[in-house]
Amino acid sequence: MSTVESDLDVPGGAAHPAPGDTEVTTARLARVGDLDVRRLLPRRQRRSVGAWCFVDHYGPASVDGVAGMQVPPHPHIGLQTVTWLIEGNVRHRDSLGSEQLIRPGQLNLMTAGRGIAHSEESPEDHDPWLHGVQLWLALPDAHRQAAPDFEHHPELPALRLGGLDGCVFAGSLAGVTSPARVFSSLVGAELSAPVDARGTVPLAPHHEHVIFMAFGTAAAGGTGLAPGSMLYLPTGRDQVEITARAGARVFLLGGEPLGETLLMWWNFVGRTPGDIAAAARDWATGQRFGQVAGYRGAPLAAPPLDPVRLARKAR
Ligand code: MN
Repeated sequence: MSTVESDLDVPGGAAHPAPGDTEVTTARLARVGDLDVRRLLPRRQRRSVGAWCFVDHYGPASVDGVAGMQVPPHPHIGLQTVTWLIEGNVRHRDSLGSEQLIRPGQLNLMTAGRGIAHSEESPEDHDPWLHGVQLWLALPDAHRQAAPDFEHHPELPALRLGGLDGCVFAGSLAGVTSPARVFSSLVGAELSAPVDARGTVPLAPHHEHVIFMAFGTAAAGGTGLAPGSMLYLPTGRDQVEITARAGARVFLLGGEPLGETLLMWWNFVGRTPGDIAAAARDWATGQRFGQVAGYRGAPLAAPPLDPVRLARKAR
């Protein structure tokens, strides 16, 4: 997924204090192609939670008889994209030559490292509904020049927490570890309730976490959640109780606080205005990122880069 916004971390909705030392924030609505998305991260006040630095939730949306997701080739640096579907199907292509259709329960993990380009589209004969999340993990400074890479995991480890079913797509939860290659201590999991259910979710106390709803009705730590709202839990907690009505889908993301100040502009995660300007220049001049073969349509152009605004953002 790509964003058309250059200035990603504009102020979000207000942060509302919730029980204990938690807080609830609300998504900003954004548009990606034909899709309305709820953008839960980044926020100016919180650019990352662990290494998670971008959280878009879209759908469930009918894409019956329309083009659906159509994100032309665009570049990334300094991050990993984590693609997870709840309903539907999406085809990924990248400049390494990968082509991969993804379905619910599977993971596409793309490591941009020093630079990669990709496209994402609903296939021509796509499923009628689309519902999913697009997440980014910031690469820690020591790894952000890593070689670009793409992994597809057709199956992810499952677990049961009380009455909740879980799937760990990144990092570790309750001793269950995803095979996906990540670069910091973290967790990314989907929890679902087959029937009205509750479960105690163990948390690593050195991680900070967010919990958000994709569908249905649920509460975490006594705070009711609705799609478009996100509960933040600071470090120091070792568990959270989740109650969910039948059919609810909840996401848990967390990790060791990054301790680095990210500079996010368009589809780039850097540290300095120079990182961003160089990536924008290389994309505009056809350097570094390679070509995405097979996508019918022109690549995305970066928005105009405003050096003054970028320098202000970097402070
Ligand atoms: Mn993308």
